[in-house]
Amino acid sequence: MENKKEFTCIVCPVGCHLTVTKEENQYNVNGNTCKRGEIYAQQEMIAPKRNIASTIRVEDGFLNLVPVKTDKQIPKEMIFDVMKEINKYRVTAPIKVGDILIENILGTGSNIVATRNIAKNN
Ligand code: SF4
Repeated sequence: MENKKEFTCIVCPVGCHLTVTKEENQYNVNGNTCKRGEIYAQQEMIAPKRNIASTIRVEDGFLNLVPVKTDKQIPKEMIFDVMKEINKYRVTAPIKVGDILIENILGTGSNIVATRNIAKNN
């Protein structure tokens, strides 16, 4: 692994420019304005994770798609597989915000939840 890496913090819209250097067994973070940036940078070096937003096809709803997101971050290297898995699903209206539409997707510990209400088609 490289000893120094630079990237932009994506935790909040400020977007601080972070520099992480590895010294012995620890990562030192510079450029962060708050603690969240330090935690993000260390996680990014050890095991990067991301949230995903997508859509799932809906049967019998007033819209054909429901927007969804992960309720916990998943390992970055699993994004493609998780997106493929989400694309296989169909759900039936009605759907409420916060409904778990896919539980523990691919064993990641993250659920796929609805982010808007979809009423039944009349
Ligand atoms: S370091 Fe803190 S203030 Fe800067 S972008 Fe990250 S979360 Fe926002």
